[in-house]
Formats: sequence, C-alpha cells, structure tokens
Amino acid sequence: MRIWGILNGKEDNLVKDLERTALSFEKLGERYGVSRQAIHFFYRRQRITRSVKPRGHQTERCRLCQKLIQISNEPHSEFISLPTIVNKIGQLGAECRYHLRKLREKGLVDERFGRLGSKKVEKAYTIYFKERLSMRSIGRKVGLKNFPSVVRKHRELGWNVPPSLYVYNRRKGSRVKPEIQKGDGLGVDRTVWVSLSTG
Ligand SMILES: [Zn+2]
Repeated sequence: MRIWGILNGKEDNLVKDLERTALSFEKLGERYGVSRQAIHFFYRRQRITRSVKPRGHQTERCRLCQKLIQISNEPHSEFISLPTIVNKIGQLGAECRYHLRKLREKGLVDERFGRLGSKKVEKAYTIYFKERLSMRSIGRKVGLKNFPSVVRKHRELGWNVPPSLYVYNRRKGSRVKPEIQKGDGLGVDRTVWVSLSTG
C-alpha cells in the first residue's frame, strides 16, 4: 500500500507520537505526509493505547455522559441494570454503551456501572437492599431461581454486595427461623433460634 511506503522507516516514530503525545490524527497525518484516515488505520491496526486522548467526544460537554454520571452517583448504582439506564437516558442501547465506555475509560464511572444486564436481578437486589428476606424468598418473588448464586458470583467478582438484612445461621446451608418460646416463669419471653436444615 502506498501509505506504508511513505511511512516506511517512520513507523516507530509514529507509534511513539501516538503513545506519548496528544496530537490529533489530522496533525499527525500532516507530520507524516499521510491522510488522517491512514493514521487512524495504523493506530487501529497496531492496537496502540493513547495515554492522552485528544480527539472527538468530550465527556464534560456531553449531556448524555453527564446524565450517566448523575445516575452512577445514586446509591448501589452498579446494581441498576443497563436496560433501566437506557430507559432513564432515553437513548438507544448502543448509543448508551458508547458513552459508558468513554466514561469507564476515563474512570468517571465505576467499572461495574452499566454491566448488569438483567432487570430481574436488578429487581431482586432492590428488594435485597431494603427488606429482611432470604435470598431464596427474593428469588421466588421476582422469578429468579439462582439469586443466591448470582449474589455469590458478584461477591467473587468484587461487587460491593452488603450483608443480607435477613439473619442467616452461621452454619453454612442452613436457615434460621425465630420462634417465640413462652417464658420460664419470670414472665419473660425468650427468642429461640431454631436451625432448619435445608437438606
Ligand atoms: Zn458522552
């Protein structure tokens, strides 16, 4: 290709310029005597990471990005599903994902924000944060069989899932049910925790 002929011998310099400067593709094209598109093609092909991103989209001036940041500042925002975010923004999913990616790249939103795909899981978490219910009961409520394993997986991945408001027994795999026992003659009711094996 003609372009590479012209670049011949200067590729290393171009890689350095792309990696270390904020010069636009247009400016670099002028410097190397090739088109802006040729620089862009080279950049894509070489999989170069630019430390300073000079061109195009500016998050601080983008209304969509600002709205996304606003949503990401809500409590437990990583548990808001992408469909809900898309809905709030009033844009197409693909459009939304583009701006999310830009914001993640800049570290302006959490890496996990907008990753949750399922509205059911989102609904389950909403209940989980507010109500004293077991994960299984929540799962049943929203029609999600594997909610406990979803929670486990998220925890493994480092998501900040707070402890359940429901009281679980220390013993793994058993549930706890409070049972009121009549007083022992002192007129005091005593709460006894009865362990039920889930078998
Ligand atoms: Zn944007």
